[in-house]
Amino acid sequence: MSALLVDEKESAAPAGSAWPEEIIPLGPGESAREVVLKKIRALSSSDHRDPFMVADLGVLASRHRAFCQALPRVSPFYAVKCNSSPWVLRVLAALGTGFDCASQVELEQVLSLGVAPSRIIYANPYKSVSCLQYAACHGVQLLTFDSEEELAKVAQHHPGARLVLRLWTEDKTSIFPLSAKFGARLEMCERLLRLARDLGLAVVGASFHVGSNCWNAHIFTQAIADCRRIFEMGREVGHEMNLLDIGGGFPGAEGSQPMFEEIVTVIRAALARDFPEGTGVEVIAEPGRFYAEPVCTAAVNIIAKKAVLEAGGHRKLLYYLNDGHYGIFRLCLREPVPRTPIVVKELSSNPPLFPCILYGPTCDAFDKLFKQEVQLPELDVGDWLIFPFMGAYTWVMSSTFNGFLPASICYAMAPEFRNLLETAP
Ligand SMILES: *Cc1c(COP(=O)(O)O)cnc(C)c1O
Repeated sequence: MSALLVDEKESAAPAGSAWPEEIIPLGPGESAREVVLKKIRALSSSDHRDPFMVADLGVLASRHRAFCQALPRVSPFYAVKCNSSPWVLRVLAALGTGFDCASQVELEQVLSLGVAPSRIIYANPYKSVSCLQYAACHGVQLLTFDSEEELAKVAQHHPGARLVLRLWTEDKTSIFPLSAKFGARLEMCERLLRLARDLGLAVVGASFHVGSNCWNAHIFTQAIADCRRIFEMGREVGHEMNLLDIGGGFPGAEGSQPMFEEIVTVIRAALARDFPEGTGVEVIAEPGRFYAEPVCTAAVNIIAKKAVLEAGGHRKLLYYLNDGHYGIFRLCLREPVPRTPIVVKELSSNPPLFPCILYGPTCDAFDKLFKQEVQLPELDVGDWLIFPFMGAYTWVMSSTFNGFLPASICYAMAPEFRNLLETAP
């Protein structure tokens, strides 16, 4: 992996090479937040204060380095659904990650960057016949499955596939659990492995996903132990089992619990016990949030405000923002703790805080950013709020409901990462 990491000193710009116009070059020590503040300043005399995001593409390089250092045995296959911006994918391809795709459009997007089909896993256990045919035609062989019906389809439409059996995991403690929909129970696995063999299909490994924003690092321990059982069962029925896919679920924001370090410590121990080095098993992961979440910083504007008096005469403030649940905050309603925005305003040193509800701009009362109130100072119409860590599952889920357009995105990058914009994968 280390050869794929960026050497910042050696990656200085080749003389005369063109810097893409749509990418803002960051000054020394500058981050997305400074670019956001500059843009806000530039808009201070304007009445058009539409929501926007700034994506710092260099963050992908530091995340990649952190991932590879923490789990040197594990090759990351980035989960495209998390943030499928063309620039994000391009930089990741240049960094040398693989990709987890779940649809034909995602496959097309990644293949069009010149990524080799062997660096792609089609990790949606349920694929339409036409998508299976597309994968077969384009040499994408690694496919996940968890049901008999999928095996029948694969046998007919993609018989050369290298199948990965997706295991059910106990993910009740994840903020976004997946197990109700995905995964085969361990008791079912032997039957599936035999059926695959009888259909002439090759199963090459096992995968799982602990749920996005996993809250209990030890789910990995159990899942990796269960995968070892699947490897034993697979070998018994004649499959060459050599790929372990530990999925995603790694946290993306600072201060998340459990921390990334805690999770990778648990994973390293489980791998050492159940899949020791030198046994010829390749280990991959499908991180999405870990790479994408810190990339984007969002800025939204207060377009309206209403003060209400609650029982006891307490003042509560309702702020109406120009982006919300139907825009980039779609998943925030499911988060257990509301995010705290950064207020862009000169305030007295200890301004009084009020319970506030942050609403989005549409005519749906359900359209608010967070379930709970947040504590904020008194702000005015026209003021800005900044939300860092908005790169994962945000604009990819934006809609145009009620005529509110998705937030615009602009890209920024420190010049030392310039080679990532030029390297063909
Ligand atoms: C969504 C998804 C991922 C990425 O999950 P994160 O929690 O963002 O890391 C990985 N693998 C599969 C199969 C997924 O559905």
